[in-house]
Amino acid sequence: MGNPLGGQTIAQRVKSGEPLTDIIQHYASYNGTLSSKKTDLWFHQKLTRGNAEHILKKNGNEQGLFLVRESINVPGSFVLSLTHTGQAQHFQITTSPHSGCFSIDSGPPFVGLDQLVAYYRSGSNGLPTSLSRACVGYELRPSLRQFGENTVLHQAVEEDLPAGIFRNILESNNCPNLNIRNLNGRTALQEAAVRGFNDLVLELYKHKADVKTRDFEGSSALHLACRGNKPETCKILVKHCLAKAQDRKCGSGWVPLHEASCCGNHACIETLLANGAACHPRCVNGETPLDLARKRNHRQCVHVLERFRPPKPHYTSANWLHDAMDRYKAVELLEMSGLYDGSFMVRLSKRNVGQHVLTMAYEKTVYNYEIRSRGNQWYYIDDGPLFSSLEYLVDYYCRCSDGLPAELTTPVPPARLRNQNQSSSSGFIGTLTTVMCYRKCLTFLINYNLQPTVNEIKKPQVDHRHALNPTPPKPRIINPESVVLGRELGQGEFGSVLNGVWTNPAGKQIPVALKTLHGEHINTGETEFQREAEVMMELNHACIVQLYGICRGETLMMVQELVAMGSALDYILDYPLHVTVADFKLWAAQIASGMMYLEEKRFVHRDLALRNILLAKKQLVKISDFGLSRAVGAGSNYYTASAGGRWPVKWYAPESINYGTFSSSSDVWSYGVTLWEIFSKGDQPYGTMTGAQVIQFIEDEKRRLQKPEGCPDKVYSIMLSCWAYKANERPTFRRLHTKFRNDPEYFNI
Ligand code: AMP
Repeated sequence: MGNPLGGQTIAQRVKSGEPLTDIIQHYASYNGTLSSKKTDLWFHQKLTRGNAEHILKKNGNEQGLFLVRESINVPGSFVLSLTHTGQAQHFQITTSPHSGCFSIDSGPPFVGLDQLVAYYRSGSNGLPTSLSRACVGYELRPSLRQFGENTVLHQAVEEDLPAGIFRNILESNNCPNLNIRNLNGRTALQEAAVRGFNDLVLELYKHKADVKTRDFEGSSALHLACRGNKPETCKILVKHCLAKAQDRKCGSGWVPLHEASCCGNHACIETLLANGAACHPRCVNGETPLDLARKRNHRQCVHVLERFRPPKPHYTSANWLHDAMDRYKAVELLEMSGLYDGSFMVRLSKRNVGQHVLTMAYEKTVYNYEIRSRGNQWYYIDDGPLFSSLEYLVDYYCRCSDGLPAELTTPVPPARLRNQNQSSSSGFIGTLTTVMCYRKCLTFLINYNLQPTVNEIKKPQVDHRHALNPTPPKPRIINPESVVLGRELGQGEFGSVLNGVWTNPAGKQIPVALKTLHGEHINTGETEFQREAEVMMELNHACIVQLYGICRGETLMMVQELVAMGSALDYILDYPLHVTVADFKLWAAQIASGMMYLEEKRFVHRDLALRNILLAKKQLVKISDFGLSRAVGAGSNYYTASAGGRWPVKWYAPESINYGTFSSSSDVWSYGVTLWEIFSKGDQPYGTMTGAQVIQFIEDEKRRLQKPEGCPDKVYSIMLSCWAYKANERPTFRRLHTKFRNDPEYFNI
């Protein structure tokens, strides 16, 4: 390979009087000539979804044809557009805020978009098809590549240029992007860190090099300093550059302490521990740094790790440890203490005897985390580090959020609980104060963009006139051996949905959707899950997804009819040009028909929204999701499973928000919002308003969602009637069904 400086170093050129800007320019031009030889041009700058589809079509729309485009709406975020069975499909590429790595859905993370594309070229790996030919666009920017180009900064680090000259390069107008990886897949900061060039590390950091960026194999600068046995650099990175000792390596999940232990670099271990790192973090396969050090016989490292004692905890358990208490009481207590960000308590679970739960507040949302223990010796949350006592665990999370929404700040002591218990009522419904408490509880659940699992709002009563048949039929138990699992169709709130084939007792093979419960919900949610299945078993209507039975394989699954085209919301978003107002009216009639059936069965759905409407074919929709989340959530202490972006409160009637009552009339309100979603082609109701703002907004009878563009006046007036403040002024589903059924366009379909 050539050298842009004709075999000379930067230092030599500077010495001979050449201006720095010229030297930088040599590098830029040299890299330009190299990149023009590259041919893989699948990257497209800012393109709309429509334009991407147009380009795919223009290029022949063959199976696997693809391009990657930068999102118009969210700069710095990317979308993969591909052709599958003649249709364009779009996949959001998410960028991790912690590591800058790219991934699609739950697929593996990649440090470069080129690496991501290569992975999905090698096989479909969860996409509907593997990627084949690319629609020709532009050269991928070097900062987005796993292996980029050697910039002048890399060369400067290689030469260990004096900090002064290095700073001049950084301050020059034509300084390259600091986060470009070189041909070895490392940024200048990473190269400086692994070599222990502390001045250069500091200069780069001061000039905004990203300390989180990962190298070609997923290591951060701190990982590399640990690997290079540079304790002083570790200290600088943690203390001055805000590098995080808990940042994991993509893939293995190693934190820097794993790296140091594996390489036998005990001085780095000491530095990290002295600067607040947890001593026993676990990687993906559960190994701790001590395990690695023992395995590799790094005696000194074993010694340091075994002898380490964390600093004395700031709070003792008397500050935050409570007796057994249910989550509602805990919510009440945190609320009374002011719901400060990071206010917290540890309580014994009422449901799982002996189990501790950390309850904390953040942005007016309350979170609960089970604290598990291994033989009463090690305590941990989720896949977080192990601690030898609850005090150490709490103290660590007071210093470092490490997976929690925020650091713990203010303990809520048990004494306060006792005082307040004397004056507060135990339930949420009944008095004005408790109703308000319920409402606030709902408000803060939604403030953090979480879908409150329906159990959070379950405590308030369902209108009992709508009680279910007291003896519903038992769901059929399906033999796991009669079910073959297929690919993933989507992710629900509490588990994935797979397609599959069920061979029924008559020997007929039936395509099915299998709705699973993730492991952690099974213990606590199984009874409720079954109860929900019993409810669904009772339902038999063309516009309602049918439950065939329950299957107890490795996980508990609901075996449902497969609704071929999946989510109606996704369909509208992906194919806005393929759907017309006439389709929408048909869907409106069908949803009303299904809901009318439920109304007659005295069943309240409580989560009617476009996301829960599935498409069997373009002319047949089905209502789904009959409270799985409600069933599961009742036993779950986790909110982390909730997907962002779903805001059920935007679908809730005022009386459901204010008093927790749910009835067919409150379902009618939700139906109005669902209609609005359909006619606005999948827009988010109330835009970016928070749940709390929506609650305020709908209190005023005159303020309702605006008429969607292109929505017929008649339909909008139906929506408005669904949003009558008083429940008894809303139409029934029977009436709604008749209205759409009688529309002339309905008959034309
Ligand atoms: P859910 O938990 O119901 O929100 O399901 C998540 C996703 O799985 C949905 O958005 C659909 O794409 C898919 N899905 C759920 N149930 C079915 C079904 N019965 N048939 C086909 N796809 C389904």
